Amino acid sequence: MATNGTAFAATAHIDLDALTANLALVRARAPSARVMAAVKANAYGHGIVEVATALTDVDALAVARIDEAAQLRAAGIETPITILEGVFDAVQMRLAAELRCDLVVHCDEQIALLRAYRGVPFKTWLKVNTGMNRIGFQPPVALDALQQLTALTGVGDVRIMTHFASADVDGHETSARQLNALTPLLAASNADVSVANSAALFSEHPLYQQFAESAASQRKTWVRPGIALYGISPFAGTTAADLGLAPVMQFESRIIAVQNLQPGDAVGYGGRFVASSPMRIGVVAAGYGDGYPRMMPDGTPIMVDSMPSQLVGRVSMDMLTVDLTSCPDAGYGASIRLWGSGIPVETIAARMGNIGYELVTRVSARVQRCYSR
Ligand SMILES: *Cc1c(COP(=O)(O)O)cnc(C)c1O
Repeated sequence: MATNGTAFAATAHIDLDALTANLALVRARAPSARVMAAVKANAYGHGIVEVATALTDVDALAVARIDEAAQLRAAGIETPITILEGVFDAVQMRLAAELRCDLVVHCDEQIALLRAYRGVPFKTWLKVNTGMNRIGFQPPVALDALQQLTALTGVGDVRIMTHFASADVDGHETSARQLNALTPLLAASNADVSVANSAALFSEHPLYQQFAESAASQRKTWVRPGIALYGISPFAGTTAADLGLAPVMQFESRIIAVQNLQPGDAVGYGGRFVASSPMRIGVVAAGYGDGYPRMMPDGTPIMVDSMPSQLVGRVSMDMLTVDLTSCPDAGYGASIRLWGSGIPVETIAARMGNIGYELVTRVSARVQRCYSR
């Protein structure tokens, strides 16, 4: 069992076999596409170097910022890397060239930087703002930007990328509008194209598959999965298991103390939980300092020695408290699973109106990551 290596401290067990199994599932959803795996934000909290090392089979890795690319290259990762926000000055651009990164280009300032650049040509992704209104050229100026980029000596391949605002929610009118906005550009160019995040990849809506098939007949298509690789559903109200994905992270710890409460005894800061009858509680070595959110309400599921139990009392920085009523044999040293197999992070996150993405990404630096395969 994965708990064997768990110290008396919050520990993130990372199953790299689950990661590669999830990648295989992504490939099966988009058999003709190249895969660019999102490993930004420390691979969503899973450890960027270890995850990138395990993902030898992807066509590229995607990071948000150049520092993340530098970390990968320093660790000897040779996979192509795309910087999703691109670079912001000439110093970063030189570094990106040294690191052999591909650049997203999303604004005129970045085209100007490339115009002044004289080194080995960059592969680029022209980012088109089709409705997300975060980064990218608006459709009416995107063709002009594409032509400008293509003409530069500092630029080799130019490829086309956009990002869906609402692929994870029902209806898909927004996604349809976004794809329509891209159509004139695709008609004018046979550049590679990338649109799909995890939600588009795992959506049952025919829109994405139809787009992927029509685009793939003209050009190479790329998909950009992130959350699905980590075994977390991008859709509210579903979990990884519903999609056939396996959670990569088990967030675990141990009980370091037991308290016997009498009716009326309150637990932790602010006394949020008050015992109504005699009961035992376990004190767990995990808190918001490890990334278990303080806002978690009483009743949030927690597994104690593989049995279902629940949070009682406010989460503090280094500790939290769990009801031991349903597990009378559990005591000092008992294993605790905060999320992972049998206790989906999506479900835990929903308890506080959050999403699995944020919980795993916020697992803090002091939490040891233990890798297995
Ligand atoms: C993070 C990111 C992705 C991956 O998104 P998921 O929802 O995790 O699959 C894809 N594309 C871009 C531009 C991103 O920033």
